[in-house]
Amino acid sequence: MKITVLGTGYLGATHAASMAEMGFEVLGVDVDPAKVDALSRGELPFHEPGLGELLRKHVDTGCLRFTTSYEEAGAFGDVHFVGVGTPQRAGSFAADMRYVDAAVGSIAAAATKDCVIAGKSTVPVGSARRLADLARASARDGVDVSLVWNPEFLREGYAVEDTLTPDRMVLGAEDAAAEAVMRRVYARQLEAGVPLIVTDFETAELVKVAANAFLATKISFINALSELTEAVGGDIRTLADAIGLDERIGRKFLNAGVGFGGGCLPKDIRALRARAAELGVEQSVRFLAEVDDINVRRRGHTVDTVTQMLGGSVVGKQVAVLGAAFKPDSDDVRDSPALDIAARLHSIGAEVAVYDPKANANAAKRYPRLDYVDSLEAAVTGAEVVVLLTEWAEFKTMTPEQLHPLVAVPQILDGRNVLDPERWSAAGFSYRALGRRATV
Ligand code: NAD
Repeated sequence: MKITVLGTGYLGATHAASMAEMGFEVLGVDVDPAKVDALSRGELPFHEPGLGELLRKHVDTGCLRFTTSYEEAGAFGDVHFVGVGTPQRAGSFAADMRYVDAAVGSIAAAATKDCVIAGKSTVPVGSARRLADLARASARDGVDVSLVWNPEFLREGYAVEDTLTPDRMVLGAEDAAAEAVMRRVYARQLEAGVPLIVTDFETAELVKVAANAFLATKISFINALSELTEAVGGDIRTLADAIGLDERIGRKFLNAGVGFGGGCLPKDIRALRARAAELGVEQSVRFLAEVDDINVRRRGHTVDTVTQMLGGSVVGKQVAVLGAAFKPDSDDVRDSPALDIAARLHSIGAEVAVYDPKANANAAKRYPRLDYVDSLEAAVTGAEVVVLLTEWAEFKTMTPEQLHPLVAVPQILDGRNVLDPERWSAAGFSYRALGRRATV
């Protein structure tokens, strides 16, 4: 069985390399020739732990190739995974389905043998049924093209592990033959006991957005509570530990801080609201408006806190921003709280030095006017406040003794609640965190 993966971004490149690791011959397809060239040379155009090695290994053996040609893909693949982007549409909360529609229409028209199209992109509920019709209508005479929906749950930073050994797999399939093909594709995971939930198209699509909406809600819940602990002088970490010990709640995703970002959670909750409104059930997910507001409020609150720490004005003040990626172990800066906060501080007059272990280059493309430096030491030298915004291991393990001789003023804002307040204040830093008592 031969596999194609349409769209070779974060999801698609990971999926293609993982499918090769599972023993399939794989062809990755992208409309971006520069990306295809880089991948064909075994160069990963983004940072993802372990993926570069996997890519090189399978490009070298010839099991994994890349192309811009749908014609080649249509002749090659028995299963075509669709992993193109579904970004937020300009001027709207809805998902932009242009790329998915183009990919499905093109591959169905190009297929010269019977095949299954397996959608992985995150799409508004109702898309799969429409795309199944589009695929059938675009297919050549005598070629059977059927569609299934197989949403992706990988986390950037753990993408390979999540693809090879997921917690669960979900398949929206309304055709027994296509389901059987997908069971063959995932035979290795099924043998290892990974649960596979087979359902209708709509439920499969909704599982993905429901999972992201739940995670976003959990983060905004603890961030809302951190506004309260801050108002009364309580401690959000202790609160999260205490409620997290209740196994009905669980401790994961209860880390208060600057909030969520990235290419998925923010756009997915907005797209769900937009889709619910189109379906006439807007009120069902109205709470997600508040989840979004709480999240965006964190960024303004962080800027206000930095301003306060600098005596009421940031103008001309030296601010060290640690982190630009939306999360550690990733160079993805899409809707990154860290980068947004850095840009906001710069726009109100601060001198901002940004250091991210992997995301400086992507951040510079988005906000070229910030000063990007290539080490932690360079960022904090002369700083009047250090602001930790992405919880990279390098920042979690830095010490006050390391920073003290370099900074101009020993004060730190821990935007991710990952440092030990006692340790930093004992070493002479004034320590602030979102949702915790300040130490001076
Ligand atoms: P991305 O922007 O990194 O990659 C999308 C790729 O699709 C780009 O390389 C683009 O050039 C290519 N493309 C666009 N139109 C194409 C076409 N017609 N044919 C072939 N290629 C085309 O996006 P991503 O982060 O990989 O996300 C892709 C989808 O997966 C989205 O729907 C996203 O919500 C979903 N998803 C992403 C993640 C994640 O962690 N990144 C996790 C789960 C689900």
